[in-house]
Amino acid sequence: DGAELLKKTSTVKGKGKAKNELGGGSFQSMGLHPSLLRALTLRGYRTPTPIQRSSIPTLLSNPPRDLVGMARTGSGKTLAYMIPLLQRLGGRHSGVYGARALILVPSRELAVQVLKVGRELSRGWREAGDQEHAGERDESGPSTSANALRWALVVGGEGLDEQFETMANNPDVIIATPGRLLHLLVEMSLNLSTIQYLVFDEADRLFELGFSTHLTSILEKLPSSRQTLLFSATLPKSLVEFAKAGLREPKLVRLDSET
Ligand code: ADP
Ligand code: MG
Repeated sequence: DGAELLKKTSTVKGKGKAKNELGGGSFQSMGLHPSLLRALTLRGYRTPTPIQRSSIPTLLSNPPRDLVGMARTGSGKTLAYMIPLLQRLGGRHSGVYGARALILVPSRELAVQVLKVGRELSRGWREAGDQEHAGERDESGPSTSANALRWALVVGGEGLDEQFETMANNPDVIIATPGRLLHLLVEMSLNLSTIQYLVFDEADRLFELGFSTHLTSILEKLPSSRQTLLFSATLPKSLVEFAKAGLREPKLVRLDSET
């Protein structure tokens, strides 16, 4: 009967509203570049996970907002920061000097994983862009290897010469462990004044490993106008203190066990 129908309708509406309050229920509703959307589909990412739903719209808002994202391992935190990163960078090499994004991670293994996720998505973006261009829909023109987004891995265990070379190639995104990054900052007076987007991934582990003094020294080299994100599975007191010092009125997205 009518009342039941109303009930049903309002339940559906209520659900939709809750999703919207979390910042949109689908990748399609986030205002992403069409080629980035296609790249996501191509890689099999059809619907955002809860941490992605609540983080991505905030990270893409204007003016940019800082964010602390806490969610368990396996909840999709990598894409929660990688999608906004690619959208902000336009998915392509800037053509001007200086890296625009820096991702700090606790280990070489994680750096390699993050690089893989980022590279695959940006490659997917370029491929999707080419298809669009064939239909004359992409104003930004065809992709070439020259305007592909450039990534640099700055981690222990890589030869230093190799890393100097990567840095000389003018990367757009640097994925780094704190110790090695500080080493390069000193040894090749690496300039980080162009960084606009800074991510601390697995921040609790970065702290457990005793990187906090390294992190503070790195922060001093970055422009204060940057957008800063901190993702973690746990949020110990020391990390909250660090976030208060290094981030500007961050939005806290905290997803405990319910998801
Ligand atoms: P976390 O960093 O929170 O531990 P990851 O970012 O490593 O989690 O993601 C965990 C797994 O979930 C990965 O295999 C990733 O490919 C997958 N994943 C992430 N987001 C999505 C999505 N929106 N749809 C499908 N799979 C996803
Ligand atoms: Mg992770």
